[in-house]
Amino acid sequence: QAKQSAGSSYRMFQPSMRQKLQQRRELEIDLQKAIEEGQFELFYQPFVDTGRRAISGFEALLRWNHPERGRVSPSTFIPLAEETGMITPIGLWALETACEQASNWVSDLAISVNLSAVQFKSPTLVADVRRVLAKSGLQPSRLQIEVTESLFLDEGDKVLSILTEFRRMGLTISMDDFGTGYSSLGYLNRFPFDKIKIDQSFVRDMSRPENIAIVRSVIGLSNALDMRVIAEGIETPEQMRILYAEGCREMQGYYFSRPRPASDLPKMLVEIADRWPHEFEALTQEA
Ligand code: C2E
Ligand code: MG
Ligand code: MG
Ligand code: MG
Repeated sequence: QAKQSAGSSYRMFQPSMRQKLQQRRELEIDLQKAIEEGQFELFYQPFVDTGRRAISGFEALLRWNHPERGRVSPSTFIPLAEETGMITPIGLWALETACEQASNWVSDLAISVNLSAVQFKSPTLVADVRRVLAKSGLQPSRLQIEVTESLFLDEGDKVLSILTEFRRMGLTISMDDFGTGYSSLGYLNRFPFDKIKIDQSFVRDMSRPENIAIVRSVIGLSNALDMRVIAEGIETPEQMRILYAEGCREMQGYYFSRPRPASDLPKMLVEIADRWPHEFEALTQEA
């Protein structure tokens, strides 16, 4: 039973391969339908400026309300959407929706939108962003774009000119998941970033001296290069306390708020404001 011939295990393997391909194909068809039938939704997670003691903006995060599978996480469907190119129309929907919603917020909060490297291959990306801004009436200075290091795996010059154009338009450009991808620091002085996001994997376990060392050097690097820095994935008051003591002022994570539907935005603003005096105050004392 345990030992089978190569032949029989090959036969056993085949159906699961077929099943996988079949599932993938179904998901692809479903993604197309999801756009057409409006099954996508944006959730918002605040980022907090601990220096100003207030929420400074929200990151828009895609959610897919699948009619049979329920809420499908972006980590499941975004890789597939990238492989199939579907991320381009989906990402444009996310950008349009985020800008439209943010243009109706009462204050001048920033709105941060993730752009996949695949979207940079679209010849109309810059024109799309310009059109979305014009249509929504959102001030360009309120829009922040989050990109990852995978952007620099190829076509560096084209990417550089697009990012430079975004900069010229007044957008903020943020390097997401910093330190987890393409491990060269060279692009940091070739590309015009405004902000570095320290990846949550380093924040998660700062009791490990290696991680604290990485967090400290990313903060130092951002100061030296005159970029802003934000830490993501903060889940505990202790993590907030350490990051503040290390000089990081912008923070994001479940400790402050999980991503929530657009209609919860006013509640999130009030809840965070209410937690300053008795909860956050003590964690942000200068040494
Ligand atoms: P990301 O841009 O790095 O977003 C952060 C992810 O970490 C989000 O997962 C968020 O819900 C989660 N997160 C935030 N705080 C915490 C925390 O304290 N602890 C833990 N464990 N997780 C936390 P989500 O929403 O599932 O999104 C996953 C990824 O999918 C995003 O990572 C981003 O790369 C991608 N994504 C989401 N929306 C879009 C989009 O509109 N366009 C593109 N291209 N990618 C998107
Ligand atoms: Mg992000
Ligand atoms: Mg991230
Ligand atoms: Mg990510």
